[in-house]
Amino acid sequence: MINPKQYKKRLLDLEKKLEARADRDLENGRGELIDVAHDAGDASVSDVAVDSEFTQAELNSMILQQVQDALRRIDDGTFGKCLIDDGPIEKKRLDAVPWTPYCLKHQTLLEAAGRERNWTL
Ligand SMILES: [Zn+2]
Repeated sequence: MINPKQYKKRLLDLEKKLEARADRDLENGRGELIDVAHDAGDASVSDVAVDSEFTQAELNSMILQQVQDALRRIDDGTFGKCLIDDGPIEKKRLDAVPWTPYCLKHQTLLEAAGRERNWTL
């Protein structure tokens, strides 16, 4: 059995951190765009720079979304249950990735299907 409360503080801290990072990424993204407009040199290289910036921001906001979903599940009383089969998510897994909505088996299946990436910070 897991105790959702012990994850709540971690998730709230993480939420704050990710929100701060999202703001920063947004500013970085804007800065990048201004640079590109400024020296419009090699368009393809500039595009790559902007893309990677926004991919990082996207990744960030996807994790933030999962963290917020996890916090909602703590309030719902469904935290620690796999979204797919309602089975328990391994405690070791929750300790490592407290916002994960899937048990290891289904995470692995989703990754194999290429529909889910293994988010790391
Ligand atoms: Zn599962």
